[in-house]
Amino acid sequence: MILLTGGAGYIGSHMLLKLLESNHKVVVLDNLLNSSYESIKRVEALSNKQCIFVEGNIRDSECLNSIFNKYNIDAVLHFAGLKAVGESTEKPLLYFDNNISGSLQLLMSMQKYSVKKIVFSSSATVYGDPDELPISEECPMSMPTNPYGYTKMAVEQMLMQVVESDPTWSVATLRYFNPVGAHDSGMIGEDPNGTPNNLLPYIAQVAVGKRDKLFVYGNDYATYDGTGIRDYIHVMDLVEGHLSALDYIVNNLGYHVWNLGTGSGHSVLDMVKAFEKASNTNIPYQIVEKRAGDIASCYADATKAHQQLNWFAQRSIEDMMEDTWRWQSKNPDGYTN
Ligand code: NAD
Ligand code: UDP
Repeated sequence: MILLTGGAGYIGSHMLLKLLESNHKVVVLDNLLNSSYESIKRVEALSNKQCIFVEGNIRDSECLNSIFNKYNIDAVLHFAGLKAVGESTEKPLLYFDNNISGSLQLLMSMQKYSVKKIVFSSSATVYGDPDELPISEECPMSMPTNPYGYTKMAVEQMLMQVVESDPTWSVATLRYFNPVGAHDSGMIGEDPNGTPNNLLPYIAQVAVGKRDKLFVYGNDYATYDGTGIRDYIHVMDLVEGHLSALDYIVNNLGYHVWNLGTGSGHSVLDMVKAFEKASNTNIPYQIVEKRAGDIASCYADATKAHQQLNWFAQRSIEDMMEDTWRWQSKNPDGYTN
């Protein structure tokens, strides 16, 4: 049985679907801080399978212990966390408490019940502004400039040192590039609270008329059209990467790190054009000041995951856009309608 923390969230709900479709038994632990139980209901309807849902907090050791006590957990997929970079600069202690202390509680409970396999959702943010592109796992981490990034680096370090002290653990740290898109049913997708921070949810809300225009953060970066370049990866490819990583750590002890990206970069304006084409809408935009802390370009060297996990991202930018549009147009108010 798998414990999936954060399974009601954007990526976690897609992971839950993939796990149920692959005949895994799953316990989801989520406090619904940034998500809705509706996502779980939809995943169960799509897969025609059930999970066990526990509404609770990863910081609550009693809740964790009761799960490990009651269910025969083989491995943990750890998605629970807060993820808004801007909010983290305003409330750093909240982020340290939730993401670092929460992960610590989880690891302590795992140790207590001798569950020693974990896949952790990290981020390409741990590379900072890299000296070389594409970014391979060999690229050194750089001290993050915001508390969110710091929590990812801190949890990576914790995991690494736990394995050093006890080599019977198996840990997969997955560094995501830019997850976008939705399941192709249009039933589950990203449902941000308030104003979206990320590019694709913002564009999608402009397309359905919830926002007037996109603000493009800077057009004088040293890139082919002056706007920022990122490695956008379809959320279904991303969760398939987790299944491969899970298989790998079942058979290989130790600490492992993989980038999950496509290996290709696209500019903000590329994304606007591709979304317009997929949705047959017009996305008005205005160039504004650069966003503090943004870098010009970031894309993965994805060869390590390909070689070791036999995984690579298969879905195209067109798929990402069509699936985002299907989700957004069917659910203009997210899960609340
Ligand atoms: P999300 O906010 O949609 O999902 C996170 C889930 O965790 C939510 O359902 C939330 O309610 C839950 N949660 C938060 N704190 C919790 C706690 N203390 N106890 C129990 N549940 C808690 O975010 P997402 O986009 O699905 O991201 C999942 C993970 O992937 C996060 O760890 C995030 O930092 C990481 N990640 C995301 C991105 C991205 O662009 N979406 C990129 C890199 C890494
Ligand atoms: N971006 C933008 N307008 C927005 C949101 C994002 O121009 O409303 C740009 C941002 O500057 C970056 C790219 O889109 O170049 C991806 O931003 P996102 O926040 O989605 O991901 P991250 O910066 O974390 O990689």
